Amino acid sequence: MSTLKLASRLDVIKPSATIAVAQKARELSAAGKDVLSFSLGEPDFPTPESICEAAHAAIRAGATHYTTARGVQELREVIVETSAKRRGGVRHRPEEVVVTVGAKHALFNLALALYGPGDEVIIPAPYWVSYPEQVRLVGATAVIAETTEEQGFRLQPETLRAAITDRTRALILCTPSNPTGSAYDADSLKALLEVCAEHDFWIIVDEIYGELIYGGFENRSALELAPELKDRMVVVDGVSKTYAMTGWRIGWLLAPTQVANACDTLQSQSTSNPTAVAQYAALAALTGPQEPVVEMCAAFERRRDLIIGRINAIDGLHARMPEGAFYAFVDARALVGRHAAGKRIESDVDLAGYLLDEACCALVPGTAFGAPGYLRMSYATSEDQIETGMARIAAAVAKLS
Ligand code: PMP
Ligand code: GLU
Repeated sequence: MSTLKLASRLDVIKPSATIAVAQKARELSAAGKDVLSFSLGEPDFPTPESICEAAHAAIRAGATHYTTARGVQELREVIVETSAKRRGGVRHRPEEVVVTVGAKHALFNLALALYGPGDEVIIPAPYWVSYPEQVRLVGATAVIAETTEEQGFRLQPETLRAAITDRTRALILCTPSNPTGSAYDADSLKALLEVCAEHDFWIIVDEIYGELIYGGFENRSALELAPELKDRMVVVDGVSKTYAMTGWRIGWLLAPTQVANACDTLQSQSTSNPTAVAQYAALAALTGPQEPVVEMCAAFERRRDLIIGRINAIDGLHARMPEGAFYAFVDARALVGRHAAGKRIESDVDLAGYLLDEACCALVPGTAFGAPGYLRMSYATSEDQIETGMARIAAAVAKLS
């Protein structure tokens, strides 16, 4: 094997834990094991037919070439309209929109464009796995701000205030949240934005789950609550979750011109543009019938109620009722320290390993999200799988001593 080394920037990041667990589940399935995966945050529904049809039509109409780096004008205009509708009428200009290769790429662009060595980026925990890794990759420091379940996993103004220094470059908020499913109500979000207004840093709001809201919860966008902060705010969104389009890889950011232009430059030197046909599929998703979204959302809500009920019926496990997204965030701290066939379960990582071996269920350990002792279960899967999986998990937990 060659002794040549990789670039040192790789030393500070690790692979995505969510993708790694999902990959392991896939490998076990391929090897013939009956594995039920609760690992990946990906709708199990097919992309709605009208969107697929529009993509076929776009190919036939010639959407098979390069586009402008920041995405085609028609799509950016539609994103502006959709965003204004979803965010209390606060309107961007098409030049302030950059279409990206999934929302993850929007966040990656932002990391490259906005942070560098010496900068600090505040990330509330539990956090989505990629936020701190992207920050570290560009040489900046991820400052983790803790939240608790009692606070609904919402960052408290005093915790934010304590995390701010003169090196703070940005705050990354995710609402509804991956991995907790918790969403900010208007008052708690306003209180945070008031703290932001006293300082000068970028506010990145990841609203990729903004349309997946349950039980009549009134979800409000940061942009709508503090339009006066628009020149410091970047909204990240996309079609992956709302329209079951994870594989199409289309996301976007809405940002002040200077930031949008920087991301455009980065794309012109990296991806050139997001895939042309996928952009037209996203355009059809935003402009076409929205009934499939309503139906998928209703299914997620039924699954949420089912899985949270099943989790809370197991002695040693507990999960809060989430307001949105499709994750149950399970407090499994009571099981750490128990024994499986004489072997001590030392952590959530051990517990996830045990549940994979014993119950053939793949869950992501909370440690990956900065929340040791917890487990994340994606319920973007069928009610049948939830029933079967939870029965298996209950039996496996009952065997612990
Ligand atoms: N943000 C959050 C909070 C997510 O859960 C995901 C899902 N992977 C993304 C961004 C990235 O979405 P996409 O698949 O569009 O890159
Ligand atoms: N966001 C999804 C998840 O958390 C997909 C995997 C990933 O992008 O990390 O499972």
